[in-house]
Order: sequence, then structure tokens, then C-alpha cells
Amino acid sequence: CGIVGYIGTEDAKEILLRGLEKLEYRGYDSAGIAIANDKGVHVYKEKGRIASLRDAVDTSEESVVGIGHTRWATHGVPSQLNAHPHQSASARFTIVHNGVIENYEQLRREFLQNVEMVSDTDTEIIVQLVDTFVKDGMSTEEAFRKTLSKLEGSYATALIDNEDRDTIYVGKNKSPLLIGLADGVNVIASDAMAMLQVTNEFMEIEDQEIVIVTRKNVTVKKLDGEGVTRDSYIAELDS
Ligand code: GLU
Repeated sequence: CGIVGYIGTEDAKEILLRGLEKLEYRGYDSAGIAIANDKGVHVYKEKGRIASLRDAVDTSEESVVGIGHTRWATHGVPSQLNAHPHQSASARFTIVHNGVIENYEQLRREFLQNVEMVSDTDTEIIVQLVDTFVKDGMSTEEAFRKTLSKLEGSYATALIDNEDRDTIYVGKNKSPLLIGLADGVNVIASDAMAMLQVTNEFMEIEDQEIVIVTRKNVTVKKLDGEGVTRDSYIAELDS
């Protein structure tokens, strides 16, 4: 399983699909991407091979921002419905996630009594919590930090807000995830291999940190909001 993300100036869907192909070796049962443009956020997902996802993607939909996922099902059978990305009830937030949320049933009982779940995944809880906390008055960043601080288990996750399509929110705990840096372009990936097509400069994310990724900036924070400084490095790898 794996995650990719892209925010830049080129065709996001092609870069995401190529990135997911580079992650195929990790194993998966379904794949999906979400791309954002001035019309909104568009989700494409399929059970099975990335080739099927490629066929399902609307090639006429232009976009320079997006997130992608290959799933190795842990909660909920492999199916199109359970494939990522997942969206919140309001469809404002879209998420991809690798890992396992161990306390998702408790969180659902505590915060999401009135929210109807669409999928059988543990992942959906994350995106529904962000939506709920934003409805309670938090900013997206605050809601994302609050949500992640309540999760027990492992996650590499990326979130897009339909009301601010120029930012990708990234979080990590006990699952691999890297940020890739370039000029006016930033990317995310479970493995540097997936994004060598864009850059060879990477930055690590530590457990229980979030990263706010825009075209020009990469801001790292702890879950309590404290800023973090992080150096990047050059990956000596051949694509
Ligand atoms: N636990 C999530 C699910 O079953 C994510 C699995 C993964 O890491 O791909 O959908």
C-alpha cells in the first residue's frame, strides 16, 4: 500500500498515477486518486489494478493538485466503496490513509453518533472527525491536529479541503511518509521512489507531526501546534 500527493503546475493525475505505479511493489487490492480544480474535488477509485484506475480517470479533467492511494484492506473488504480516497458527509474533506486506527469504534461512538458512515473502513472516521470539528468552529488545521491527537494506531494520511484547494494536510504516525521539495512544486510519498519523477530532495516527517503543504511552502508542526524546523536531504537513488 502507499500514498502519493502533488501540488504544483503540471498535470497532477498523470504524476499521481505514475507515482502509484512505482508503489505497486508494496502490494495493494485497490487504488484511487482525488484531484482538485476550480470545479471542485474529483474522486476516482477502483478495486484491482492501477491500470483499471487509469481507465476510470476522466482525462479531460485538468488539475495541478491531488492525492493518491493504494489500499491493502484491513477494515472492510476490498471494493470500490471501501477504496480510498474517502470523503466526509459534507464532501468538503477528502482523505487517503495507510495504516490502522485501533480506536475507531470508540471515536465513532464519542463524536460521530449522528454521522452516517458510507464505507466499512477505519479510515473514514478520520475524515468525518475533521469535518465534525470544523463544523464545531475549528480551522481545518486545528481540526486535523485535534483529530490526529485522538487516533490510536498507525497512519500516513493526506487531506484536501474543498474550500482551500491549494493546500494538502499531511500527518504521520508509525507508517512511512516523506515530503518532496522542488521549485514551486511539492509532493508527498510513502517512498521516495514514487516521486523521483519530480524531485530528489526530500524531508522526513516524524511521528505525531503534521505538515501543511502548499506550492511554495512546507510547514511542519507538532500536534499541539508548535512549529518544527526540519532539514531536507538529497536522495541518492536511480528512478
Ligand atoms: N485501514 C485502512 C483500510 O482498510 C487503510 C489500509 C491501508 O493501509 O491501505 O482501508
